[in-house]
Amino acid sequence: MARSWLPGGARGIGRAIAEHLAESGWNVVATYLTGRNEAEELARTHDAQIRQVDLSDPSETVGFARQISEEFSLTALANNARILERDPFDSMTLETWDRTLEVNVTAPLILAQSIGLRMSEGGSIVNVASSDAFVGSYRGIAYSASKAALISVTRSLANVLGPRGVRVNAATPGWIDSGILPESYEAASATPLGPNGKPADIAAVVGFLLSPEAGFITGASIVADGGYSGVDYYMKKEDQPSD
Ligand code: NAD
Repeated sequence: MARSWLPGGARGIGRAIAEHLAESGWNVVATYLTGRNEAEELARTHDAQIRQVDLSDPSETVGFARQISEEFSLTALANNARILERDPFDSMTLETWDRTLEVNVTAPLILAQSIGLRMSEGGSIVNVASSDAFVGSYRGIAYSASKAALISVTRSLANVLGPRGVRVNAATPGWIDSGILPESYEAASATPLGPNGKPADIAAVVGFLLSPEAGFITGASIVADGGYSGVDYYMKKEDQPSD
């Protein structure tokens, strides 16, 4: 089966994507920055190879993308790695802004250029975005901006790679319990299909978008948020029976 390359595949949603793809017959190459033990466990239990890379350094990303596309003939790329630094606006630094955009937008663009341009017809790229792209933020201004930019980049890549037969889409999660959300982030009460989603929910969307069944879908963002983004909190309160 064709190979896929998955930046940020050792833990959380990336781990679920790597396992889903490997269990669907893909040969997976997953990257990690920290969490060597988790990455090695993935390689032990699944048909997956692992590589360590720091995607916050564009020159390292460029060199690595070139090396990986010479080493493997890739037919799929899933960009899942992310940085999310929750800084109050008054103490947010330019370093946070730059680092967030490097990992969340610049790296997917570099990888798509290097790997996407080498893909043959039928190739597919999925960028893991976030429903934070559609709303204003408080403590994650750089993150929300990066995900909005990533959805825009997804559409542009779909335009330029489409004539080569390569599709580019975004899988756009809402609240997903990937092991880092504290209890208080439970969005279940406002989520029609609550509670919070699971990493496997996003893995299934990525798997579908990479598959030939999605052969006429490109430039799209598939939101998987249990319906959360369609709920107006006050309209929901209006519907509650009064005491
Ligand atoms: P996570 O923080 O658990 O995992 C992020 C991954 O990115 C890790 O594998 C990490 O090693 C990698 N990474 C971070 N910095 C890196 C760097 N400099 N170089 C290389 N790799 C780096 O996140 P998650 O919750 O599993 O989220 C996965 C994806 O889903 C992200 O793109 C995230 O934005 C998106 N998402 C998650 C949620 C959620 O509620 N968990 C919601 C919306 C979108």
